[in-house]
Order: sequence, then C-alpha cells, then structure tokens
Amino acid sequence: MSSCTTDKNGTSNILDKLNDDYDKFSVYSESDDDDNSSGSAGATTGVDLGFLQTPDNDWLLHPIYFPSKVGGKPAWLNPEIIPSSKDVECVLCNKPMFFLLQLYAPDDSKEHTFHRTIFVFSCKDPVCFQSSGNNGCPIKVFRCCLARENKYYSSSPPDYDGKSVSSFPTYASLCEACGCAGSLRCANCKIVTYCSKLHQKLDWKYHKIVCKSSNNTSPSSVIVRSKAFLFPESEIVIEPEELSKPQSNKTNDSSQNTSGAPSFTNKDLKNVDEKEFEQFCENIDDKTFQKFQTRIKHNQDQVIRYNRGGEPLLCSNTAIPKSIPACQSCGAERSFEFQIMPQLLMHLDVDSSIEGPTIDWGTLLVYSCTGDCNTSGYTQEFVWRQNFATKEKV
Ligand SMILES: [Zn+2]
Ligand SMILES: [Zn+2]
Ligand SMILES: [Zn+2]
Ligand SMILES: [Zn+2]
Repeated sequence: MSSCTTDKNGTSNILDKLNDDYDKFSVYSESDDDDNSSGSAGATTGVDLGFLQTPDNDWLLHPIYFPSKVGGKPAWLNPEIIPSSKDVECVLCNKPMFFLLQLYAPDDSKEHTFHRTIFVFSCKDPVCFQSSGNNGCPIKVFRCCLARENKYYSSSPPDYDGKSVSSFPTYASLCEACGCAGSLRCANCKIVTYCSKLHQKLDWKYHKIVCKSSNNTSPSSVIVRSKAFLFPESEIVIEPEELSKPQSNKTNDSSQNTSGAPSFTNKDLKNVDEKEFEQFCENIDDKTFQKFQTRIKHNQDQVIRYNRGGEPLLCSNTAIPKSIPACQSCGAERSFEFQIMPQLLMHLDVDSSIEGPTIDWGTLLVYSCTGDCNTSGYTQEFVWRQNFATKEKV
C-alpha cells in the first residue's frame, strides 16, 4: 500500500531534525526508487504530511523503534509512567478510550525532548461524537518527552533486525485489550491484566483460547495483532508536502514559500479543475472548505498535516478555535502542532462497520505546550475538533 506520491527532495522540519546525525531513530519510507510519473516536482510548503503504510515488519512498530503509527495498541515512549485508566477515559461516557495514533516528533534543540511522541486517544462511541459538537471531548492527546540518555532505551540508534524487541522489559502492567494501564488481573489464569471489566469482556473471545490452556506462560504467547475492537494498525510515514502544478510549469512562484509557513493563495485554486471541484462540494457552503479541499487535492491520501508553530488548514469557517488554553502543567502558551485529516476515517473503517451515526470529524487540530515542559510521564495537550459545515442535502 504505497500511498506516497511525492518526491523527497524538499525541506522538512521533522526530516531535517532527524536526518542531522541520527536518522536511524525513526523509520521513513525509502521510496526513492518509485517510478514517479507525476513528473515536475512542485514547491514544498514547510508542512510535513503523514501517509499510511503497511510496515515492512511488525516489529518496526515496537517502542524501541520510536514509531509513528495509527491503531493497534500504543507503543508507549515512556513505558513505565503511563497515563492511568482514568486519564484515558472519555469525559462524556466514562468508558475507556482507544488508541488512535501516535506521532514521533522529536526536538533535539532541547535535551529533554530528544525523544518526543504525541499520543491521541479516541472514544469509539458515536453518541459522544454526536453530542459534543465542535469541541474535542471524545478525543484526548498526551505528550511524552525523553532525554537521549534515559533508563529505557539505548542512546544509540537501534539495530534494524527486530532482535531486541523480545528482550524489552515490561515496566507497567497493561490492559490486554487496549494496551493502556491495566491492573485488574484475569481471575482464572492470573496472568493477563485489564484496564476495566468492560475490556476484559471485550477481549474474552481472544483470551479464552489461551486462558485455560496449560502452556499459557506469558501474555505474549497470545500474539493477536489485529483485534477487531482496536483501530486497524498502520505505520505513518512522513513526507514534505509538495503542491503539484499541472499545466503551469512556467509559473515562478517559489518566492511564496520563503517563510516555511503554508502559503495558500488564489494561484493554487487556478490549478484545479473547477467544475469537478464544484460538483464535489455542492452541499457545502463554505469558502474555507473549498480551500481545504483544494489544498488536500495535491496529496489526497494525507492523514496528518504537521506544521508545528504554523497555521492549521481549517475545514470550515465556523467553530474556529480562538483562544487555545495555556498548558495546564507549566502555564506556557500552546501552539498548533499538527492536524488529523478526515481521510483517516476511511482507514479506520468506521463507516462500514456501524449502522447509523459513526465517529466523525472534519479535522482534529492538536495544540501543544510551546515550552515542552518537562514533566515526567505524559502531559495532556489540547485538541480541537472542527466539523464540516454542511447544508442539508437536497
Ligand atoms: Zn465516549
Ligand atoms: Zn483496556
Ligand atoms: Zn485468563
Ligand atoms: Zn507546559
């Protein structure tokens, strides 16, 4: 599932940081040998895009490889001081949330952010998405930072053979179902643990196969990577955003992109087949949405737009986030860091699996502490959910 169509010849915030002297800490797709028939490379924008890709090996999603990924269980960066079950509860229905995605976004300008991962959790109850309007209630975001020298990982990049995965110690007892903190032990085998009765029940159809068997010596003897109640797992690969410029190779607009900030102008609109475009958003009365749609047309499979300190690409001119609350831990301002795109919903398969309302968003905007405050464990950050402003279909 090679979804990346852009060349890798642009500059990119995350890529630059990682490529300096330490590029093996994170895995990026080496798609240079792709036959890129799209031809002329467009301008890069300073925004990094995340695309989904099936990992070459499952072990690449283990914490020691500092993965960026969607679905499955969280690959905790700090594997010991993880959020409590209460922390990962939906504030609306009080049920445990599920791991949605994590993004490895280190900042080596500070010692304690040499490793840095943002974790996103989501409720799976459509009722919570319906009742919460435009705020981010059914979603929670946590940031975790670690210095290069820490007690969990080697300060040198890991070997890419997957061998050290099995020797990685267990630091915290995790829910067998969701991978979050879990202290309730299965009364029968007394081995596996759960965050809640609800998840124990959910997991029983998988666990019962091994719970009663005599050779069940460790939870890892049950390797079920894709339990139906988890979001489907996939690696996120990061590429710099490039705007394709069909039919207008003489337009010299490279001066637009000097600041590194996304610079959307009317010129971009001219590059799109307007009729096709109008048809598509007939039921949406919103110029902001049109800009949104035009911009993502350049890279249709993007599930993440990463632009720390920049501006988000809004999907609607209503429910614009105006005052972002300051960091609850240190009081510093928060700035925009990345957004989760609606394309991710297709991967999550939420539309086909449930009748009636589903979990839904136009875009999810994640804002993080500008001070990257150095609290141990996980610090909750701010997420804003923007929905599409739709008119009733005729
Ligand atoms: Zn909920
Ligand atoms: Zn659980
Ligand atoms: Zn058991
Ligand atoms: Zn802070």
